[in-house]
Amino acid sequence: MRGIFVICGIEMDAPVKTLFTNANLVLDGFGHLQKSFEVLVAGNRIASVSNTPLAREGARVIDVGGGTLMPGLIDAHAHITGLSLSPRNSKYPAQQIAEASAHYLKASLTDGFTSLREAGGADHTVARLLNEGNLIGPRLFYSGRALTQTGGGADFRTPDEVTDSCGQPGPFSVMSVIADGIDQVRRAAREELRRGASQIKVFASGGVVFPSEAHATLYEYSMDELRAIVEEANARGTYVMAHAYTDDAVRRCLDAGVRSIEHANFVGEATVERMARTGAFLDPTFISLVQRIESAPEAGLSPAIVNNLKATVARGHQVYRWAKRYGVPIAMGTDLWGPEAQHCQIREFAMRIDLDEAANIVRSATRINADLLNQTGNLGVVAEGAYADLLVVDGDPLADVRVLTNPRQNLKLIMKDGIIYKDEL
Ligand SMILES: [Zn+2]
Repeated sequence: MRGIFVICGIEMDAPVKTLFTNANLVLDGFGHLQKSFEVLVAGNRIASVSNTPLAREGARVIDVGGGTLMPGLIDAHAHITGLSLSPRNSKYPAQQIAEASAHYLKASLTDGFTSLREAGGADHTVARLLNEGNLIGPRLFYSGRALTQTGGGADFRTPDEVTDSCGQPGPFSVMSVIADGIDQVRRAAREELRRGASQIKVFASGGVVFPSEAHATLYEYSMDELRAIVEEANARGTYVMAHAYTDDAVRRCLDAGVRSIEHANFVGEATVERMARTGAFLDPTFISLVQRIESAPEAGLSPAIVNNLKATVARGHQVYRWAKRYGVPIAMGTDLWGPEAQHCQIREFAMRIDLDEAANIVRSATRINADLLNQTGNLGVVAEGAYADLLVVDGDPLADVRVLTNPRQNLKLIMKDGIIYKDEL
C-alpha cells in the first residue's frame, strides 16, 4: 500500500510507464463493465487498452484485482472561490478565499473529480499554481469572472452600493463582473479570454437561491449583447456557458448560439426539443438546490424559500426527462458554494438515480462532460491517446452509481495526468 496523498513531486522518480492489469473497464459505448483488461499508461497519456496481455518491460505494474478502472470524473459546474451561500465574497480577505479554493480543489480530487469546469471565480493564478504542482487538484477549465448585467443574477450589490470608486459599475465580487451594452460585454469577454478563460460564463437570467425575491428577471441581456459575447468566445475557438433558469432565457441563449445551458429548471418541453436541434448541452445541478434545502435551518432560509427550492428541483426532474426523450446531451454539474458544501459534490450521482440508468449517469460525468468541454478523446474515456485521468473503484458504478458516492471507502486509486494521488490497492 502506498500513501493516500503523495506530496507533489514524489512521483518525479516514478516509472514513466504504469501497467494496470486485471481491470474491469468502464468503456465508452458499453452499458456494463468490460472484463479483464490491461491498460498501459505512458507519461501522462493512455498508450494502450487491451484484453490480451501487454508488454510490461519498464512499467510499474498495478494489479487492479478485478476492480473497476474508469475515467476520472468531471464536474461541469463548480465554484471554488465561494465561502458562503452568498457568492459576493468581497467581505472576505483574499487569503481566506485562497485557502477555501485550495481546500475545494484537493477535496474534489480526493472524491474522484480529475477535471472541474469552474463557472465563475477561479482564474489564471489558480490554474498556474495547479500546473506548477503548488496546488493539488483537478484539471481546471476556468471562466474567470462571469458576465452579469446591472441588476443581473451575479450583481451582488446592495441597494446602497451604486458604483465603484472610479464611478463605473465594476467588479463587486470575485466571481462576476458587471458589464452592460455591446461595447462593455465585448470588452469584459475579451478581458477574461485574454487572461486565459477556457470558456465565457454569462448570467442570462436571475438566480434561484432565493427564488422568492421580488426582482427576479425573466431574462437578462439583450439579444445583441448575448450575440456579441458568443462572437467573442467563438473568435477564440471556445464557447459560452449560460446560467439560465427560465424558458425565455434559454430560448434567447439558443438564438444567440450559447452551447452550455446551466440549470434550465423552468424551461418548457418545446424549448428542450429545440436544445436537441441546436446541439446545446443541458447541465443540471440538482445537488446545489438539495444542499441548500438541507442546510436551510442553519442558513436561516424561510419555509417559503425552501418550498420554492423544492419546486425548482421537481421542475428540473421534468426537464431532465424531456432532455432524455429528445436526445439532449445531459452534462453533470454541482454548483456548490464553499468548503462546507463541497462534501456534497459527489452526491450529484445519487440525485439522478430515479431519473436515469447508472451507465448514463456515469457517462454524463465522463464522456458527455468531456464533449461539452471540447475535450473529446482527451478526457472522459479509457482509450488510447486520452490523458491518464483514471480511477480504480471497488464495486460496479454501471450497476449502481452509489458506489461512487462513498469515495473514502470505494475509491482505491486516483491518477491524474499520469500521477497517482491515492493508492490503496
Ligand atoms: Zn453556478
